[in-house]
Amino acid sequence: MVSLSDLASYPICRRCAGRIFAMVGTGLTNLERGSMLEFSIKCEKNDPEFNFADPQNCEICHGIFDKFSVFLSLVEDKLKEIEYSTFVVGSVFPKEWIELENKIQEAFGAHGESIKKEFNREFGKYITAKTGKEYRKEDPDITIAVNVEYEFVNVSIKSLFIYGKYRKYRRDMPQTRWIHKKDGDSIESIIGEAALRIAGGKNYYLHGSGREDVDVRMLGNGREFVIEVEAPIMRTFDLSILSETVNRSMKGVEIFDLSFVDRKTVKEIKEEKHSKVYDCIIEGDTDIDKLKLEEACTEMNGKNIYQRTPLRVAQRRSDLIRTRKIERMELVAVEGKEAEIVVQAEAGTYIKELISGDSGRTNPSLSSKYGSQLNVKELDVIKICRGE
Ligand SMILES: [Zn+2]
Repeated sequence: MVSLSDLASYPICRRCAGRIFAMVGTGLTNLERGSMLEFSIKCEKNDPEFNFADPQNCEICHGIFDKFSVFLSLVEDKLKEIEYSTFVVGSVFPKEWIELENKIQEAFGAHGESIKKEFNREFGKYITAKTGKEYRKEDPDITIAVNVEYEFVNVSIKSLFIYGKYRKYRRDMPQTRWIHKKDGDSIESIIGEAALRIAGGKNYYLHGSGREDVDVRMLGNGREFVIEVEAPIMRTFDLSILSETVNRSMKGVEIFDLSFVDRKTVKEIKEEKHSKVYDCIIEGDTDIDKLKLEEACTEMNGKNIYQRTPLRVAQRRSDLIRTRKIERMELVAVEGKEAEIVVQAEAGTYIKELISGDSGRTNPSLSSKYGSQLNVKELDVIKICRGE
């Protein structure tokens, strides 16, 4: 049976002694609890001179609770000019300190709190008191990690996420930057560079709710996206500055409906599946037979088609056969070898192959119904049916 007096033989400070019984008493700090223990031990041992070790000689905490101002100035050095309102603290401790604490706590009934937990909480309170920033475990702007032994800190800055919708007016621009080729415009680079100039930061990523081909324009109500800015300096600013910067640059991208969002919006917009309406200019080998084409469109209207992964994307996507519904197909106009049709199709339909047939991989296709080869010459997304 251990007695409290046995605590006197360990080289620990009042706070670390108090922490051994953190779960026993409520309403006291570990330091207060330690002072009470010290008093009890003086009485029990009849030794008025007994004191726990000074913090700097304590073999559990090594005096780190007296170094908050040092740690905070390290944090402030790293966060110079960074705008944030919430933070969380984590810490790295040498395993010898933790092992000694565990050994003592177990010897006295395992009613303790870990030094790491107390440090994170108390240093967090200290930062709040000194800076007015809010300690928040859920999705904080800043994550602070303190190496208590070597006295250095690491801070990570949460990305900034801005939701919006874009229209694209060019037929020569990809949605995201090419991996091996950094030059050349993309929707990502146009929006991202503007966001980086305003928010500061290290890099940017565009998360789109699907994507259109390089040569397809995105018109109508626009496509949803989230632009992520890595390690931003600014987290709050007037978003109309961003939309005006992009829209006035006349690079063929227009953005609107912007708002600040959380990371979870990225997942949400990526999971959305909406039908889309397309305007297609199609082309035949010879002059289009208007009546025949009208009949072919009517036959496709409301039909399910089977699409095997198109040859042009087969290297990137697994080879599957998908069923997709063609919700609407209407002939708008015919002129010589060309015709304009409007198609509304389920999410994930390959429109170019719906028209061409992709050498039989899409069945039926407009070409198969028409009885002669047709190809897409120009394609625009004119509406994404989000039900708004
Ligand atoms: Zn201590």
